[in-house]
Amino acid sequence: MCATPLNEPSFRQSVDLMYNRAVALMDLPPGLEEKIRVCNATYTVRFGVRLRGQVHTFTGYRSVHSEHMEPVKGGIRFALAVDQDEVEALAALMTYKCALVEAPFGGSKGGLCVDPRQWDEHEIEQITRRFAYELIKRDLINPSQNVPAPDMGTGEREMAWIADQYQRMNTTDINARACVTGKPLNAGGISGRVEATGRGVQYALREFFRSAEDRAAAGLEGSLDGKRVIVQGLGNVGYHAAKFLQSEDGAIITGIIERDGALFNPAGLNVEAVREWIVKHGGVTGYPDANHFAEGASVLEEECDILIPAALEGVINLGNAHNIKARLIIEAANGPVTAGADDILRQKGTVIIPDMYANAGGVTVSYFEWVKNLSHIRFGRMQRRQEEARHQLIVDELERLDRHLGDAWSMTPDFKAQYLKGADELELVRSGLDDTMRIAYQSMREVWHGRDDVTDLRTAAYIVAIDRVAKSYRAKGL
Ligand code: GLU
Repeated sequence: MCATPLNEPSFRQSVDLMYNRAVALMDLPPGLEEKIRVCNATYTVRFGVRLRGQVHTFTGYRSVHSEHMEPVKGGIRFALAVDQDEVEALAALMTYKCALVEAPFGGSKGGLCVDPRQWDEHEIEQITRRFAYELIKRDLINPSQNVPAPDMGTGEREMAWIADQYQRMNTTDINARACVTGKPLNAGGISGRVEATGRGVQYALREFFRSAEDRAAAGLEGSLDGKRVIVQGLGNVGYHAAKFLQSEDGAIITGIIERDGALFNPAGLNVEAVREWIVKHGGVTGYPDANHFAEGASVLEEECDILIPAALEGVINLGNAHNIKARLIIEAANGPVTAGADDILRQKGTVIIPDMYANAGGVTVSYFEWVKNLSHIRFGRMQRRQEEARHQLIVDELERLDRHLGDAWSMTPDFKAQYLKGADELELVRSGLDDTMRIAYQSMREVWHGRDDVTDLRTAAYIVAIDRVAKSYRAKGL
């Protein structure tokens, strides 16, 4: 589905090129390099659903990139342009992403060729349930083997249908709810999952700005306050990132790029108002208080401090990389910068906070949700004082989990400390996410600044991730 111009490698090839760049600087045993790079398997399914009086055939994929840890994890995307190449690239990124933030999962991804806007809710439900049925039958949705989540074109609603479908087909599985994450709260979800990816982008930027050395590398000074930001895509990720950066960090959102064009206002756009306009009118067209650009992508090239591509892959490519003026790009989407564009931007001195780190907030909070579902306890207690005895039971349970689940319960110390203080679930999730983003950033940063042959954060991120995956394969005796 790459929006890349001709003669650029495909999305999957682009990911492989970036992988190879990092691997060339590592000392992996022969063969392991290829074992980690390749996708283990991709299942393709074509199924029919009777809708509006006729049978419609849909094509879907679930790709498993690496099973060095199980379950494997990654979202399910609903979009017309989904294809095998894209799903495999996204599955590979999930492997590296999970390794980087130490979520104990292998990488997977799914996609269904469908335009969700073309179908009514009950039709989408039928399509989703049928796709889920096909995947559940093959253990490609399963709490201990493969745990999907939302991605582009899907959300809580679809996850609730998938969980219900799994429950119907596995009535005696006590862990059924853990078969998918990103569910609504009343269906076993966790507070803060919807905002998680955008929140993670905010925490990533905060961590970046904490270091004077890193700011200087991007030619930026001071804090996020007053920084000019352009966001591409005001979907779930872009909206939350822009909203939090504007309302909590004082950033100025000068540009918003959407499907039908872009808005630009050097004095700043009101994210909440733009979002409301989009929900009501289906796009940014007609929004007052801004300059309009019919050719939205041209706004990627406007003057700004931070560029946040939060939509499709391949939007910064050989065709426009030379014209990008942002000093700092944070990849809220997966794969928005092609390998060719990455080379150009690196030479220009643009700092890129890579996708596998920048948008890892989603899978991090998915991990919390999965653990919550498996442990069958509620996360976060405000009623500690009133429920001292009950609280003690939960603390005991936590300790039991620690003993039994070992690594699978590798909650950060801050997370546990917050829990024991009796914080509520949302506080707990946010602090666990913040902690995770800080720790992962430092692990990348150490490689970025610590090695003369590493000059960018993406290569550093790949090195950290590949090293962890390699260690895990070696421990398994492969
Ligand atoms: N689809 C999201 C991603 O690309 C979330 C995956 C998950 O939570 O498993 O990271």
